Amino acid sequence: MLERTISSPFNTRQMVKGLGAAADIGGFMNKLVLKPGREKSLKRRHPWVFSGAVAKVSGAPESGETIEVHSSTGEFLAIAAYSPQSQIVARVWGWERREIDAQFFHARIGQAVACRAHLLPANDTVRLVHAESDGLPGVVADRYRDTVVLQLSSAGAIRWRDAIADALQAVVKPESIFERSDADVLALEGIAPSVGLLRGAPPPVQVVIDEAGAKFEIDVPHGHKTGFYLDQRDNRQLLRGLASKREVLDCFAYTGGFTVNALLGGAARVTAIDSSGPALELLKRNVALNKLPGAECIEGDIFHLLRKLRDHARSFDLIVLDPPKFAPTAAHAEKAARAYKDINLLAFKLLKPGGLLFTFSCSGGVARDLFQKIVAGAALDAQVEAQIVEQLSAGADHPVALNFPEGEYLKGLICRVAGQGLTVPL
Ligand code: SAH
Repeated sequence: MLERTISSPFNTRQMVKGLGAAADIGGFMNKLVLKPGREKSLKRRHPWVFSGAVAKVSGAPESGETIEVHSSTGEFLAIAAYSPQSQIVARVWGWERREIDAQFFHARIGQAVACRAHLLPANDTVRLVHAESDGLPGVVADRYRDTVVLQLSSAGAIRWRDAIADALQAVVKPESIFERSDADVLALEGIAPSVGLLRGAPPPVQVVIDEAGAKFEIDVPHGHKTGFYLDQRDNRQLLRGLASKREVLDCFAYTGGFTVNALLGGAARVTAIDSSGPALELLKRNVALNKLPGAECIEGDIFHLLRKLRDHARSFDLIVLDPPKFAPTAAHAEKAARAYKDINLLAFKLLKPGGLLFTFSCSGGVARDLFQKIVAGAALDAQVEAQIVEQLSAGADHPVALNFPEGEYLKGLICRVAGQGLTVPL
């Protein structure tokens, strides 16, 4: 039932009547019609409609309300949430005419959680819902033991907040659901941030998780995003296995995800840099929580500090570069490319012969091949020879829907520079 014309009997007021009062009834009257030829990406099931592709919107839908998306010839394409203030003016909930209601969210969340069942026994901490890749644009839910942190970042997701929270409560049965809908992107949707308890008891002041033997305290109300970067879980463990005896520099260290793992792996010494004082305070607590020897913490701007380390002739066996999103969209890619090149070039210069660079980009606007080219350019300009020894990405709880390549936002490389170096694995 992929394509239906608007004259389909399925799209009548009669059917709407039959749905009952709880339905988002207006959704069936509201229509977004695309300009001629602009239906192509939707036909490939890409779930976004950009404002430039829209010919008209009828029915005066409110922000977040359900709308039908039609081609210029009147062909039904999708059911979506309307975001009147965003460049992405509609985000697709489904490809068939169907009601969007509490049951819809219960089913999608149930499916997302079921897909992660194999990860749950080993991890009490997982991403349960990964937005578009789980068929739920604008919805992210991370589970930290008994606490679920919900981040809603689109008008449609915000409109269905209660249904989403109820579904998570019913499917996951956590002790608390805490909302962290305060991402910058919400401003693009014209929506005010919303932070606070949604269901259950307030989360403990100190939520402590165990990630493969590494303990982390998470600041749920104040930390970045949902409080912790679960996407790097596998890569942190990889680093743990390679850190033995190495002198490690953890750039953009946040609360110590890589630092703690480097120390657990037997690093000789770890230097952690971040521009956030509170993040570094928590990093120190996390190091102590794991009963590890302290890390050297430097608060400040990485672009400045890497130069300072170079000027002081410091050198390292292993460097991590895990910066924030420099390019949220492809439009920012050029400026972002310069920033990525700068830090990678400086890192290559700071590496000892045989040293390892764990370098990442979480920019949706920088594709993997472009990122690799930037890193190659940085090595060239730093006059080091290097090989890629491993390609990295987010873990299995961050799936990438094939119709939504933007879901593969985290790309990483382990590069090894030429030279003898330490006689440890790799
Ligand atoms: N590696 C971390 C996550 C890094 S998130 C982990 O595994 O948990 C990115 C971090 O970069 C944030 O903590 C932010 O405070 C920091 N940051 C952003 N811009 C910075 C800059 N210019 N210099 C130093 N740190 C920066």
